[in-house]
Amino acid sequence: MRVAIFEGAGKPLALGVADEPVPGVGEVVIKVGRCGICGTDLHMTSGHAMDFPAGTVLGHEYAGEVVALGADVQGLKSGDRIAAMPAVGCGHCAACLAGYPLGCGQMQGRLGGFGQYLRASASGSVKLPQALSLADGALVEPLAVGLHGVALAGMAPGARILVLGAGSVGLAAIFWARRLGAGRIVAAAPSVRRAALAATMGADGFVALGEGDVAGISEALGGAPDLVLECAGAVGLLGKAIDCVSPRGMVVSLGFCTSPDPILPSTASWKQVRMAFSFGYTLREFQFTTDTLDAGHVEPRQMITETVSLDALPVAFEALRGGGCQTKMHIDPWAV
Ligand SMILES: [Zn+2]
Ligand SMILES: [Zn+2]
Repeated sequence: MRVAIFEGAGKPLALGVADEPVPGVGEVVIKVGRCGICGTDLHMTSGHAMDFPAGTVLGHEYAGEVVALGADVQGLKSGDRIAAMPAVGCGHCAACLAGYPLGCGQMQGRLGGFGQYLRASASGSVKLPQALSLADGALVEPLAVGLHGVALAGMAPGARILVLGAGSVGLAAIFWARRLGAGRIVAAAPSVRRAALAATMGADGFVALGEGDVAGISEALGGAPDLVLECAGAVGLLGKAIDCVSPRGMVVSLGFCTSPDPILPSTASWKQVRMAFSFGYTLREFQFTTDTLDAGHVEPRQMITETVSLDALPVAFEALRGGGCQTKMHIDPWAV
């Protein structure tokens, strides 16, 4: 099968061939239909301490069709179209039993969406209903990231929400905050180029980050936010969130910043800010995301700005490092 391989920071992804995977116990092999490119794919291939090892075939936002089943697989058959959490756990610790394999001490990644087939966890997968395409299926993972963060916040109905960042995590957070009962939602980012998309996902306003932004955000929201969802992971944004949030408000970090990001604790103390850090999703959140799309709430489809072939991927992937106008790029590993 064809794959695109990470060969080390500073080098473009390399096209190659690999043996088709064989499903382990409790696993299936899927023929990948679509895989999204994530900000972490870029961060963790950039010459950073948390980089993937050379030789990795990345890709964790995938959906595909089951083509082979391992032992002890229940509820799936050949031909089923699924989205799967890109990780497996031990299956019997508290995190695994709660449907959160990302919290398992023995968690192993199941990447490989930058290739034509991959091994996926059967118990960590959800079936795609007829109305959803494989492209929709590849949106389940990034949308579930936003859902987990909003759920972690325990948002009160009608809460004023600030979303910092308007990339796919921020857009997903807006989508879920709107669906789960937020009051006014304002997004803020350095550039306003995703203002229309943020509005489509449910935002009421958009503020450009820069001089006077804290006052501008308050004005756009009709008061300081009860909840700030930090969704960009840029240094300085946790401090910005604390500056913006209302007294006794909450800040949830979904941005996965991989550098130290200093905050002034006394400002947070003065306001008695509560903070939480979100990571991943549960199987239930994967299912709920799928059900929500299936119910016709398909605005997130508009996040997909381009779909590329494996041949086009190495160049397209490097171009994403420079920013540009993409929101969510998808790969079709069978496109020629
Ligand atoms: Zn991701
Ligand atoms: Zn476990």
